[in-house]
Amino acid sequence: MSVIDLRSDTVTQPTPGMLEAMARARTGDDVYGEDPTVNQLEAELARRLGFAAALFVPSGTMSNLLALMAHCGRGDEYIVGQQAHTYKYEGGGAAVLGSIQPQPLEVQADGSLDLAQVAEAIKPNDFHFAQTRLLALENTMQGKVLPLSYLAQARAFTRERGLALHLDGARLYNAAVKLGVDARVITEHFDSVSVCLSKGLGAPVGSVLCGSVELIGKARRLRKMVGGGMRQAGGLAAAGLYALEHQVQRLADDHANAQLLAEGLRQAGYSVEPVQTNMAYVQVGERAEAVKAFAAERGIRLSAAPRLRLVTHLDVNREQIGQVVSTFAEFSRN
Ligand SMILES: *Cc1c(COP(=O)(O)O)cnc(C)c1O
Repeated sequence: MSVIDLRSDTVTQPTPGMLEAMARARTGDDVYGEDPTVNQLEAELARRLGFAAALFVPSGTMSNLLALMAHCGRGDEYIVGQQAHTYKYEGGGAAVLGSIQPQPLEVQADGSLDLAQVAEAIKPNDFHFAQTRLLALENTMQGKVLPLSYLAQARAFTRERGLALHLDGARLYNAAVKLGVDARVITEHFDSVSVCLSKGLGAPVGSVLCGSVELIGKARRLRKMVGGGMRQAGGLAAAGLYALEHQVQRLADDHANAQLLAEGLRQAGYSVEPVQTNMAYVQVGERAEAVKAFAAERGIRLSAAPRLRLVTHLDVNREQIGQVVSTFAEFSRN
């Protein structure tokens, strides 16, 4: 029995086509800038997202860290969502390694930050305060797609206030596919964008940071400093190129499966938040550990939380969604 793993979209295995592309990749020493496949991936993403330059890094955490450190100096501040990955789930790296002070704000129901609250949080130019340099957004945010009109407002606002604007676009392509737009329609509003290849896109490793030549130059120096300079990384870059070519449009299947899952669970009596992309949040309350154990015995891997996140991806098909729904239905009858 194959395991159905709904904990995250990071758990996917490389597809046969991807493995073949990885095996065929031409490589060189990327610290010397000599890996042709890494160079190709960086050029390709920069072109697709409308930036002058890009940098391949081992993880989304590193990509965001390099962006924050390239935008902000020691003692500067960035404004970020209280629930955002860059603030909550990256070990406090910006503060620890960059001496950058976070100013977290509560995320709104639609995944955005209220720009009036952001305006209030910007510190005056006075030596008592850290200097606010950057606003960081996340898209998708817990599976929610930020409205394009909001992105335009955030861009105009940050320009007016002299702040840079960074996007943690770990799931940028889920947002683009959901909106039915070219990803550039989202990224054109930002000064820098981090994209994960290892989430829904299905590559085993890697993220890409996009920005100006100057910003990416700084990030390249910082990448070496934090130990992210890789050598013959072309095989990994080839996986990313393959994913961009073959595994973007199929994200729509993951979104449809998450919808199907949500509908099935609602019919089984569960309360499920509205689904936009590849995440369904279901209320299991204090039965989180119990449902996890129950599902595990039936070949389904879940996280354990009262507000349980179920994530669809490349390695979960429609039929398996049916199995998951049946398992939850059986659990609720017990
Ligand atoms: C996964 C993720 C990242 C980066 O995570 P890594 O595991 O370091 O690659 C960044 N932001 C968001 C929103 C994520 O989901």
